[in-house]
Amino acid sequence: MRAVLGAVAASCLVAVAILLLFWTTYFAELNFTAYDFALRLAGPVSPSSPTIIVAIDEDSLDRIGMWPWTRDKLARLVDRVSAGRPRALALDLLLNDETSEDADYALAIAIANGPPMVLAAERDAVNGVELWRQPLAVFAQKGVRLGHVHADPDLDGICRRVFSAKAGEGLVIPAFALQVLHAAGLPFKSDFEQKVGSADVIRPQTINIRFAGDVGTFRHVPAWEVLDGRAGTEQFKDQVVLIGFTAEGLGDEWFTPFAESGRKMSGVEVHANIIDTLYAGRAIVEFPELGLLAALAAFVALLWWLNHRFEGRRSYAAAISAGPVLLAWSWLFLKYFHVWFPFPPFWAAIVLVVPGLEVANRVRINRDLDRKIERLSSGWIDALNSFQSHSAASAIRRSRLFGRVQRDARWKLDAIDFFNEELMRFLSFNNAILESIEDVIIVSDPAGGVVYQNPPAKRMERYEENPQNAAAYVSLLLDGRDLRAPFENVLAKGEPLSVNFIPTRDARRFYNVTISPIAASGIVVTMHDATAQHELNQAKSDMVSLVSHELRTPLTSIRGYSDMLLKYNLVKEKGREFLDTIIDESSRLSQLIQSFLDIASVESGRHKITKSDFEVDPMLKDMISLFGPVAAAKDIKIESSVTNGICVHADRLLVYQALTNLVGNAIKYSPAGTTVRIGVANGNDYVRFRVSDQGCGIPADEVSKIFEKFYRRENPETRAQSGFGLGLAFTREVALRHGGDVVVESEVGKGSVFTLSIPN
Ligand code: ADP
Repeated sequence: MRAVLGAVAASCLVAVAILLLFWTTYFAELNFTAYDFALRLAGPVSPSSPTIIVAIDEDSLDRIGMWPWTRDKLARLVDRVSAGRPRALALDLLLNDETSEDADYALAIAIANGPPMVLAAERDAVNGVELWRQPLAVFAQKGVRLGHVHADPDLDGICRRVFSAKAGEGLVIPAFALQVLHAAGLPFKSDFEQKVGSADVIRPQTINIRFAGDVGTFRHVPAWEVLDGRAGTEQFKDQVVLIGFTAEGLGDEWFTPFAESGRKMSGVEVHANIIDTLYAGRAIVEFPELGLLAALAAFVALLWWLNHRFEGRRSYAAAISAGPVLLAWSWLFLKYFHVWFPFPPFWAAIVLVVPGLEVANRVRINRDLDRKIERLSSGWIDALNSFQSHSAASAIRRSRLFGRVQRDARWKLDAIDFFNEELMRFLSFNNAILESIEDVIIVSDPAGGVVYQNPPAKRMERYEENPQNAAAYVSLLLDGRDLRAPFENVLAKGEPLSVNFIPTRDARRFYNVTISPIAASGIVVTMHDATAQHELNQAKSDMVSLVSHELRTPLTSIRGYSDMLLKYNLVKEKGREFLDTIIDESSRLSQLIQSFLDIASVESGRHKITKSDFEVDPMLKDMISLFGPVAAAKDIKIESSVTNGICVHADRLLVYQALTNLVGNAIKYSPAGTTVRIGVANGNDYVRFRVSDQGCGIPADEVSKIFEKFYRRENPETRAQSGFGLGLAFTREVALRHGGDVVVESEVGKGSVFTLSIPN
């Protein structure tokens, strides 16, 4: 919006500047030339006024004699014309000097007897003083009109306009042509004549002549033909007759816009053109200046818009083709509406504004480029600082480049070259790093579409070139488990998530998968091949399971014999205490072995998960009755929420054992007088078991560790309880095996909430 307002303001300024330019002589002449050109283009028109010129031409001078003719000859001429009964007769001759009395008298009589008459008057400078040269009083009789015969050519000597009236010495004399029309009683429209009371007042104003054509457009009758009777006088009937010189060299000649042939037009013919212009209402009106300013401003704005919209060649073509359009427009106005719409200022606008806009564009681009290079260089230096391996050569080149004082166009190009090369090097270095990583790397955009896979990904068995959805694709590469939820979680929370030892579908390879967010622009999945580690773990736990299994038999014997020694009272008092300890420790050892075997069997997959639909309520009831005595002994209340017949599709035994660990821990790590709550909720495709307590709680930095095997906290509450750090590891394994999860929210000193989610 600001740019548009700026452009409008600038367009107005440019328009004013161009119009001011056209006030200077040089451009004013350009305007005249354009005016003449347009007028010639509009072409001649046929005269519509009844005008005839009785021409004192070369032939007449040859036959009748050189000028000045005696006044009685003139009187005869006037008489001959008057005999034809014209509407008016106008003499474009100055009759201001006295000749012979008889001759003057004869002419005065002829004038008095003639039709309505118009005589010429002229301003002249005598010794530097302007005076009116008027006909002698004997000619300027009552009823005879006087008209000024000034042509007022423009600076270039071409006659285009006349003044409607001229004033001087307290006298206002209307134009000759105007007086002729009045004398002839021919109506015409004008805005320079006003009635003030009973008098007609004429304002001196320019009248732009619409020349009907070049020299000879109006009917001419040579004066000698009239004088010797060769030309019939009936042709003058009801005509307006102008008598004047057309012979060359007598001074009263003017160039007109039609004078292409170089021929000047006689003054009398110019008057005929003025009469015709006024009579036909063809006076050329100039386009109002304010309108011109507005049109020019709009045109400049249009040029700006063209440049803005179609930068380059198309905008030049459009701007240049506006030239002929404007000319045509001007021609149309002149030909049909007699309005002069000057097109040169518009052409000047094309010539000045189009390159001006180009220069402005260049300046803007240059400035932009400067800013961009500045930004690039600061960003780039940061990037290079972390890019340790950039070569010494490029460091030298960079410091040389930025050390240069004169930052001209050459420098800018060098800078761009430098950044380009460095960027290429940087990119290929990064690519090489990515390609040499053995882990599989898959990158997705925030919408989930895969945007990058490194070469190891391409070696995966189920590799696809353009997978649609990253979560589904990673799941396809692995064992087919649903990974949508982890992906969504990572995107939502912005925290990475790892899952270890995910097998491929054929269980031949195992991957540790990490899903990490890339600052609001997607997700990167790294898959580390952990098959060897998995096999080692497997071998270890197989080994330990075997040993544990083998330990169970001797342990049962130890326990059995110890029980018997007690039962049959086979040892003395001191020995009984020892036996109690042996029995306690062996049952702890057997518990440890059992929990270890449990987790090992689930982890190794030996315990095949057998899912069935079962109702949650009876299972919880069993559990509460199992823990009832232990809780009561610690004065802890167990509460269970209403389950509303919720069913779950899972391995009942494993879920039961997992929950047993959670409830057992809640009782173990809570002080007397507290409550343990068990809740179940069904929704969003999961059944969620919540076990909450009011116990000692777990600090945030240990929350993730408590699910590791054999991890026990080092706090007094934990030390006071027996345990092996295997319960939560087992619970998590059960959750994962079901495609679910176990999480904890806890606050030290207030309690913990464990949530076991099993997909339904
Ligand atoms: P343990 O046999 O030690 O209970 P677990 O794997 O069940 O082993 O738990 C690991 C550790 O987590 C425990 O040693 C204990 O410190 C902590 N813990 C587990 N459950 C709770 C709980 N409800 N409140 C506080 N600490 C708990």
